[in-house]
Amino acid sequence: MVYIKGGDSKVNKLTTGLVTTISKIMPKPKPVNIYYHDITKGSGQSYMQIELNKFYEQMRCIDENNYETTLFSDLNKNCFNKRKSVLITFDDGFSSNYYYAFEILKRFNIKANIFLTLDFIGTENYLSWEMIKDMNDSGLVEFGAHTKSHTDARHIDCNNFKSEIVEVNEKVQQNCGYKVEDFCFPYGIYDKRTLDFFKDLGIYKRLYTSDMIASKTDSFELIGRIGIENEDSMENFIRKLNGDYKGIYYLKRLRRPFNYYGI
Ligand SMILES: [Zn+2]
Repeated sequence: MVYIKGGDSKVNKLTTGLVTTISKIMPKPKPVNIYYHDITKGSGQSYMQIELNKFYEQMRCIDENNYETTLFSDLNKNCFNKRKSVLITFDDGFSSNYYYAFEILKRFNIKANIFLTLDFIGTENYLSWEMIKDMNDSGLVEFGAHTKSHTDARHIDCNNFKSEIVEVNEKVQQNCGYKVEDFCFPYGIYDKRTLDFFKDLGIYKRLYTSDMIASKTDSFELIGRIGIENEDSMENFIRKLNGDYKGIYYLKRLRRPFNYYGI
């Protein structure tokens, strides 16, 4: 056997270098993004309303199978411990998110995020600022922006961006103490001009849609999400959680009217 002085440390350095290079090349595990709207004790409806018992079972499944749940702010770290990582979002800010979902989130210690529409806050069936603050204080829920009036984002321009985009951000900052970095397009609708406009504004780090398109620019990341449907079996839910539902999901959506997917 030929002994090379310092050989071991050279091998170690080579191995460490190789591992570092591979870890840089390999895509980092990212959370699968799922979205809900309203939770109901009555009969559910497609993507808009999930029955409470089904939502409970879905959260229990997440807990029992040790999925890592994440907040918007966790995404800045870009470091997830498990491959089974999920970003749960709710659109529009229904009061059921507080009365029903929040109780279940607390029970299982699950993190979730809510996109707020400013004009809805404090109105019937929607969250109040007191509820929002209570959830914020728990450390289990963070908030994103969903415009002021739930307008089609293609109609946001130099004339109304302050009211539609900036104001909701300022109000969350006043009430929750942080700058919102996540924005969800109402109806999931946007076009190239919308993206160019958001790029120039540079306010939001992440823009969310309800399609499966995902891309990254210098100023923001465009993130697709998978909607949870009331009719989903637990098997379908788990497939969505694992992110292996994209093809079927996309085809399913193509068969439906474009703006079918709720407010
Ligand atoms: Zn919406």
